[in-house]
Amino acid sequence: MEERTIFHRIRDKEIPSDIVFEDDEVLAFRDIHPKAPLHLLFIPKHFVASIADVTPETSFIPGMLIAKAQKFAKEKGIAGYRLTFHVGKEGGQEVMYLHLHFLSDQKLPS
Ligand code: AMP
Repeated sequence: MEERTIFHRIRDKEIPSDIVFEDDEVLAFRDIHPKAPLHLLFIPKHFVASIADVTPETSFIPGMLIAKAQKFAKEKGIAGYRLTFHVGKEGGQEVMYLHLHFLSDQKLPS
């Protein structure tokens, strides 16, 4: 059995989150402790614990998250941003559900 993390519970809408984007493959929501004026987390609907656990079958997922983040930024007119994966506890990963940090000094247009 896979261990359920807080991001499983956000994905399954068992706990509230500030969702900014969702489709069949990806959910994006605001980080609860933002490190920039805009700090989002992009997670795949299909669970993978970490970049360290990606297999040939799931290796498309990191690229898919980046592509969704890029499209989101384009649509929202965000010119510049930073994308980060923390990998493993030693790499600063606290939540063992693969996620892409999206940080920008620009806020989302209201
Ligand atoms: P990481 O250190 O890469 O595992 O990042 C986990 C991120 O998840 C941190 O930046 C936390 O602030 C964020 N986080 C933890 N719990 C929640 C939550 N319930 N809603 C939104 N973001 C969260």
